[in-house]
Amino acid sequence: MDRIVIVGAGQGGLQLAISLRSEGFGGSIVLIGAEEYLPYQRPPLSKAYLKDGDARKLQLRPATFFERKEITLLTGIHVERIDRANRVVWAGEQSIAYDHLILATGTRNLRPPIPGLHNALDLRTLTDAEALREALVIPCRCAVIGGGFIGLEFAAVARSLGHEVCVAEAAPRLMSRAVSAEMSGRFLTKHRGAGTIVHLDNPVGSVTDEGVVLADGSEITSDVVLLAAGVVPNTELAAAAGLRVDNGVVVNEYLLTTDDSISAMGDCAVFPNPVTGLPIRLESIQAATDHAKTIASRLVTNINTAYAAVPWFWSDQSDWKLQIAGLAAPEDDSVVRDDGAVMRFSGSTLSAVETINNARTHLLARKALAGAQVTREDLVAVNFDLAAL
Ligand code: FAD
Repeated sequence: MDRIVIVGAGQGGLQLAISLRSEGFGGSIVLIGAEEYLPYQRPPLSKAYLKDGDARKLQLRPATFFERKEITLLTGIHVERIDRANRVVWAGEQSIAYDHLILATGTRNLRPPIPGLHNALDLRTLTDAEALREALVIPCRCAVIGGGFIGLEFAAVARSLGHEVCVAEAAPRLMSRAVSAEMSGRFLTKHRGAGTIVHLDNPVGSVTDEGVVLADGSEITSDVVLLAAGVVPNTELAAAAGLRVDNGVVVNEYLLTTDDSISAMGDCAVFPNPVTGLPIRLESIQAATDHAKTIASRLVTNINTAYAAVPWFWSDQSDWKLQIAGLAAPEDDSVVRDDGAVMRFSGSTLSAVETINNARTHLLARKALAGAQVTREDLVAVNFDLAAL
């Protein structure tokens, strides 16, 4: 195999190029990104970048890196079509041939059918974050559509900068897809304590010139409206090429699509959960990075190894770092330890551990979840001390 083409020069696409070279791949690597920038990290966009505006800190590698590693980086190029029969991708008049193609196209904001939503700002890209920063240079009233990680991270920063903030969440609790009810409750108290107004079970019904109107009729006057109500995977390219798509580009345990010359990874890929075998799609740096390493290793060694990394996530909100090791379903049981760590259980099996400002427990949890199944009985026997396992 001589020519590897990666579509999407984000966190995962870049990591794949890096890992291919570090694994010893000597052929050509073409990394194609629709954005104009060098590959950059997104997590700070809703955190430090909103405060310091320093885009250089976001850059994952300098331009010289790509020259040194002989990686052809094409920025500002949107791949429009895959010709699978001839193994070529097309962007306008430009065609690029591949022996293996990797789709790392990420996600974009979900746009619910809310009247007036065109008045709301996104926070997915550096361009979005720049626009948001510009809006925040004068004291603002901010309305946030969605009480998930990104909406709440933005809320915490905006409050710390002295802006008025109101978050409207459709579900009865914050971050409901990702954390236990206990954790949701703690973050609700934290945000309200910081002066953020939080509406639960009360989705935004419309966006107007004056702000937003909630489902219960309340009107929230605002100068800035942020849309942070979830994302959709960028799958159009794959679907048009006849690859299987179902809430993401469907891949097997080796991260291969239904065409064995095409892999998919990161936020856009649906893969079998290594624990349950059920299809999942994760939106995290961990998944994008570990997918990339798995694919690079397969392409270089020709050995198929099933993807099996333990998922983990983090979110910085004010002075709290929330960390989650593992993956819990919303209905999973919770046991709250004396130090506040929350252990989640699917039946009697440990599925996830949630912590705030507790890196040690987070790392112990990742280690425990990477090994043989840990049961509630195992943990009761050691008084829920993960280090004693
Ligand atoms: P991306 O990094 O999104 O890259 C995909 C790239 O593909 C994009 O640049 C896109 O323009 C490009 N592309 C799409 N289609 C085409 C095409 N047809 N042709 C060419 N290029 C194309 N994760 C965490 O784990 N922790 C956090 O704290 C965290 N915070 C976040 C905060 C924000 C504001 C955002 C937006 C995300 C955050 N994430 C966080 C999520 C994390 O950034 C993503 O999971 C990660 O970037 C996914 O990597 P990826 O390579 O799959 O996609």
